Amino acid sequence: MERTERTRSSPSRRRLLKNAALAAGPYALLPAPRVGAQPPAPDYPLGTWEPASPANYTAGERTEDRPLDLVVIHVTQTSYSNALAVFQHPRKKVSAHYVVRSGDGHVAQCVREHDIAWHAGDWDHNLRSIGIEHEGWVDRPGYFTDVMYERSAQLASTICTRHGIPKDRAHIIGHYEVPGTDHTDPGPNWDWSRYIRLVNAA
Ligand SMILES: [Zn+2]
Repeated sequence: MERTERTRSSPSRRRLLKNAALAAGPYALLPAPRVGAQPPAPDYPLGTWEPASPANYTAGERTEDRPLDLVVIHVTQTSYSNALAVFQHPRKKVSAHYVVRSGDGHVAQCVREHDIAWHAGDWDHNLRSIGIEHEGWVDRPGYFTDVMYERSAQLASTICTRHGIPKDRAHIIGHYEVPGTDHTDPGPNWDWSRYIRLVNAA
């Protein structure tokens, strides 16, 4: 993700105040999330459905001439719960299809796979990819737990199988590999060889 962290530092004071007022509003009243409180994810029943605001993705059918051929790996640079809150906030203009939690590998689906999440920072890449966010920070390898690797790889494997995406490094890419991006995630601490091995073993 990263983008929201950076854009937060630069907008006008008016917008900052507006965002602060919105952030202090409904979210402060929400109860703590309960395991099993959410319905199953529509495309991945092992996860839960935690939908992003429709203002933060493009609803639409993917066409035959623009098939899905990439999975993009991200790191949230914020907590799992805050990532979901950002995606649910209608003014954040960012989303990903999935978020994987560090501590237990839990998978939340936030955008349906036939809809186009805004995660890659590049329209062409958004059109052709599924985005998976991982709770953590690029410079804190402790967040990249065994269970998060395993559950994410299981998820990525089913995405690749369902859409006919090869399970290799040419098709499972980091956000940093999207042309023109200045994002670094998932960063040097992400173990790519392990991840690709797990995707193929899942
Ligand atoms: Zn990213």
